[in-house]
This record gives sequence, structure tokens and C-alpha cells, in this order.
Amino acid sequence: MSSSSHPSSPVVASARVVSFEVARHLVEQHAISVCRGEVETVDLLAGLGRVLAEGILADRDFPPFDRATRDGYAVRAADLAEVPARLEVVGEVKAGDWPEPGVCSVGRGQAVGIMTGAPLPAGADAVVMVEHTSLAGHAVEVRRSVSVGENFVPRGAEARAGQLLLDRGRRLDHSGIAIAASVGKSRVQVFRKPRVAVLSTGDEVVEIDATPGPAQIRNSNSYSLAAQVQNAGGEAVRLAIAPDEPLRLRALIEEGLGCDLLLLTGGVSMGKYDLVEQVLGELKAEFYFTGAEIQPGRPVVFGSCGADTLVRAGGGFTASTRTGVSAPHKKYFFGLPGNPVSTMVTFELFARPMIEALAGQTPRRLIFLRARLKSEIRTKTGLKRFLPAVLSGEFENAEVELARWQGSGDIAALARANCYVVISPERERIEAGEWVSLLMR
Ligand code: AMP
Ligand code: MG
Repeated sequence: MSSSSHPSSPVVASARVVSFEVARHLVEQHAISVCRGEVETVDLLAGLGRVLAEGILADRDFPPFDRATRDGYAVRAADLAEVPARLEVVGEVKAGDWPEPGVCSVGRGQAVGIMTGAPLPAGADAVVMVEHTSLAGHAVEVRRSVSVGENFVPRGAEARAGQLLLDRGRRLDHSGIAIAASVGKSRVQVFRKPRVAVLSTGDEVVEIDATPGPAQIRNSNSYSLAAQVQNAGGEAVRLAIAPDEPLRLRALIEEGLGCDLLLLTGGVSMGKYDLVEQVLGELKAEFYFTGAEIQPGRPVVFGSCGADTLVRAGGGFTASTRTGVSAPHKKYFFGLPGNPVSTMVTFELFARPMIEALAGQTPRRLIFLRARLKSEIRTKTGLKRFLPAVLSGEFENAEVELARWQGSGDIAALARANCYVVISPERERIEAGEWVSLLMR
């Protein structure tokens, strides 16, 4: 046993349990203050999921010409004030053609055949869809009138040359990739990914390739967290499992503080061997909260270690200077509860915004949706609940139902769920058919 290495008067943070809203606000406030990382240039597709370190500008007008949005005939709307009308067909423009004014233009009583994506010839002010026409020799009979501007997008209507299309700080998804591609950016500048240390604690926890003893469990948290870190735009660094023993735990925490952010799991509850806060306290950590009024995840901890700790820890300070990602005078950490569902939920609620900020992303608010509850929920007051749930239903008929679960250790239930139902602390009973708030996952 390790009692001999326990300090005689443990340095335990004075408890600061805050509401969900205050906890989230505190994280957001600290996230705003962190420094973005260095910039690197990558091939466009390698930029998927990365955060732009440059704004993407339109290199010309979008569309670059008046672009037809239908197959049909370029016309003068005034010629179709009365229909049916007969127009003389004087030419054709397909996508990729350039209608030289003077060679291919639309005069009074005339029409030019046009295909989707082709430039509108001079003189035309609308496109009539082919479905409303019949071709007879060199003439076309048009059965429907059109308004000026119909069925084409004027040059520059989507964006003017030089206009900002994507902001710096925006995470690239497929639509961002499309924009970068359309302005000819085959390489993009992105922020370097922050390195996020993942440290699981617990005497009962063994590596996933080990055969667990009768009272042991495999270290799933390091893997779920590493996956969540990657999803949030970070690079996970999985550390060795820390036993519930202060010296080894401290050494691993110090190692983790060499990264841009440290995520711990386990050891933050009230048990005799929950040593994370004590050891962080010895390292002169500052705690912003040591619990949030939520379930699952109440014991969640958020804090930071200052420069003197990092220098003493050795390596932390220099590592941070080298990566240049976070402010070298301070390293943030989260102590997430060890129950796997609590770990995953508290990551999404609190750790994700910090990782996104370290990755250079402009902060986003949490987005809650609403859906009708399928079957009644009974719960207890006092905590804001984030309960794994299944959202299903037809168009305009979304329904949500709690996943049946055995509590915060039940990963199988979470894997069946696709969202969380969020319940205010004052609610005890929610009837079937009521609208409830959801957080997608
Ligand atoms: P703790 O927060 O340390 O009290 O742990 C709470 C529960 O989560 C215990 O049942 C642990 O066995 C479980 N647990 C802790 N760490 C992990 C881990 N790394 N992977 C899976 N389960 C864990
Ligand atoms: Mg533990």
C-alpha cells in the first residue's frame, strides 16, 4: 500500500461546485485567452478538420459571369409579356462557351439556346425553361412569360472579387474545402494541432491488451478520450496508467503538463484513493471549479498550473515553448470523472471548447435542439441532467426517448444513444409529449 507516501497534511483544493452554466462560462472565458498555435501549410484535403490560419478570399467574382441556372432559352422578358410568343433562335451557348457580344447576343424578338452553367449572352435579361417551349425550325414557341432576372445568377451576386469567403479560425469541413478549391487554393494555411495528454488513473485499470484480473477493468477511457480529442482537432498523447499512489501520479501529471492541455480521468470523487486534486494541489494548481451540478459528471475539475510548477516539473515549460500552442505561463487541465459515460459527457461539455480554442478555432456556443419526449421521465431535482437518449422519427415528427441504462458506467447504452436529453435541475417529472432540449453527440 502507498500510505507512507501520502503527505502528512494533504493539499486539497477548497471545494468549488458551480452550476453547469457557470462551469461552461468559466471554461469559455479561459478558452478565449489561450494562444493559437504556429501555422503550417498543408494540401487542401489534408486540411479537412483543421482550423484555417488564413482567411480565404474570392479570387474573382462569383459567379464570374451571369450564369444560367436552367436549360432553355436566353430571352428578353419584355418579349414574353404576352404568351404564347414566337422568338427567332439566333444561336446557342453551352457551359464553357463564351458568347462574344456582337457574335452571339439577344435582340428584340430573338432567343439564344442556353444550358445550365453557361454565360447569359448580351441583350438577354432572363432564361425561360426548355419545358415551357417548343422548337419549330429556327423559331421557338414560348408558352410562359418570365420576369427580368429569372433563372440566372448575376455576376458577383454570390461574392465579389476580394470578398472574404471563409474566416481565419474556421474549421474546414467539406463545404469549406469546396470554397478553397473554387478559389484555387490547392494548399491552405492551418494552425498546428494542440497536443493533449490523456492520463487515466486507478489501481483497477489495466491496458487494453492485458487480461484483466477478476477486479480489474480495461482502460477504455484513454481510448474514448483520445478519439474525442482527435475529433475536437487535437492530437492525443496517451500516457501510462497512473496508480492511486501520489508519487507516481504526480510524475505522470508532470509529464502530462508538458503537453498543451492535460486530461485526467478518475480519481476526482470523494473516495479515500481519489488523489488527483490533492496531487494537483501540491503542484500549486489553481482550481476554477472542483465540481459542477450536473449528472453524469458531477466531480469534474478544471484548473491550471502556473509557470513555476511547469519549470519545476521540468520539460513542461520548454515543451510548450517549442509547440508554441498555449501560453507558456500556464497549462490548463481537466480532471474528468472515471465512469466512462461521465468521462465522455464532461469532455464534450467542458474539454472540447478548450481544445478547439487551442487548435485556433473561433469559440462556438453549445447548440440545443428540441424534440417531443416519447415516454415520461422521472428524476431528482438539484442537478442538470445530460441523459443518453435516442432521437428518431419522421419529417416534422422528431421523438426522443431515454436509452435504457445502468448509470454512468454503461458504455453500451451510450453507444446505442445518439443524443442527450437535457433536463433542468428543478424538474422532477417530464410527461410524454412534452418538448425537451437535446444536445446532439
Ligand atoms: P473513479 O472516478 O476513479 O472513482 O472511477 C469511477 C469508475 O470509473 C470506476 O468504476 C472505475 O473502475 C471506472 N474507471 C475509472 N477509470 C477508468 C478507465 N480508464 N477506463 C474505464 N473505466 C474506468
Ligand atoms: Mg479511481
